[in-house]
Amino acid sequence: MNGGGNISASPDAPQKWVSIPEYEKTVDLEHGRMRVRQRNHQNFVFAGAAGYLGAANPAINYLDGDIAFNAAANNRFMRVNDQAVRARRIDMLNNPVVLVRAALEPSTMIRNVRAEGTLQLADITLRSGETLTLAIDSASGMPEWVRWMAHDENVGDVTFRTSFTGYLPVKGVLLPMGFNTVIDFRNVVQNKLYVDKYAVDESIDDLSAPADIRASQAPQPQRPVAEATSVAKGVWLLHGSGGANSILFEFSDHLTMFEAPTSQTWTKVLLDRARVTVPGKPVTEVVVSHHHFDHTGGIRTAMAEGLTIVAHKGTESLFREIAARRGTIAPDAVGGNPKPLKFRGVDDVLQLKDATMQVDLYHVVSSSHMAEALFAYVPSARLLVEGDFFDVGWELYWWQNMYADNIAYRHLQVDTDVPVHGRVLPIGDVLKDIARQTKAAADLCTRTAAAGVFPPGCPVKSPSPILPDARGQ
Ligand SMILES: [Zn+2]
Repeated sequence: MNGGGNISASPDAPQKWVSIPEYEKTVDLEHGRMRVRQRNHQNFVFAGAAGYLGAANPAINYLDGDIAFNAAANNRFMRVNDQAVRARRIDMLNNPVVLVRAALEPSTMIRNVRAEGTLQLADITLRSGETLTLAIDSASGMPEWVRWMAHDENVGDVTFRTSFTGYLPVKGVLLPMGFNTVIDFRNVVQNKLYVDKYAVDESIDDLSAPADIRASQAPQPQRPVAEATSVAKGVWLLHGSGGANSILFEFSDHLTMFEAPTSQTWTKVLLDRARVTVPGKPVTEVVVSHHHFDHTGGIRTAMAEGLTIVAHKGTESLFREIAARRGTIAPDAVGGNPKPLKFRGVDDVLQLKDATMQVDLYHVVSSSHMAEALFAYVPSARLLVEGDFFDVGWELYWWQNMYADNIAYRHLQVDTDVPVHGRVLPIGDVLKDIARQTKAAADLCTRTAAAGVFPPGCPVKSPSPILPDARGQ
């Protein structure tokens, strides 16, 4: 998540890592093809068993010229979009041999050759359009690093830089034993690759796109559709095909949205739906449940529209950093001229109240998932509005008493859960489902322990009280 999935928004918060123990990249230089086979394991607790333990089958992705496709179930393949083509081209180039060969292609333009310390730098533009900067060590003549830019929904223009280290010969070709990729947002490490083995000029599988894939169209992006479903007087769940939910609150002279999730496009569709649902009142602010980048994928849209971001005070400096970043290399709401951020920080409690609506915002307690988070309570309808307290779609629950603790800590009367993920449910169903998901996590820990494997979160912990007990200890 480019550094946007940590427990808090601090640049010093420990990163969450995904390990990729089975990674194999095959490049067919002769035909311009690539296959990457990998199996991911999250090194932190989360809610899906496959992502947590590693899926039964590795993910297998292909690139053949300008066709990207993936292995799917039943020995079939699935063509994927042109965004994947661009990402995989860069991934293929992210190797000194592939890169130097691409630079030496007669159709490649090499510009702006310059010295930087002990390095010689050059900008390389390939016939396919990609531009990268290559740094060569002046003394050894070996590629030292490569740098390129990509768009990110949360942080706009991002510069990636992969360093190649520890060259060793394989069949007379010098190859690096380490790859380290860092981005220019908080110097977050994007990935670290530890090489076990290279194979040079060995026979490989045929990586060409099958005929049916070649004949099919690349999927085109569809404009998502949002609906507004009334939850209570003046409260709607905005939901649909483009991502997570947002919740709309109607005050007497303005509208407040809870969450700008998933992507800039989806948040724009949600904002438009809000304006159609309650015509004549402006949306003036967006409450952000927590900074995780899936929950703030549309925050640049909210910022560009001049909305006030209402969030826990601990997230302010992160959101200021994000607001100041330009987005110029792909459609981006902030674009080339960032505006100052309008931010309203919440410490422990903030009441949003006028003659027609009351929404109480509270700092989340008892959460190992997010320490600088808010949830909302609508007293008139006894609604608890939340992001990441619970999702009916989760398989495993590792967060102990988070949901019940927040109700108890704030002395709330809750009838209904109104979630960013999932659907509106009675609170009794939610608490029952959390118990079921928690048991599933405990069962999983029992199974893995029997196999001699001890993943994070295991054994499932019993909750600690968040208040001193009645004896004042
Ligand atoms: Zn989250």
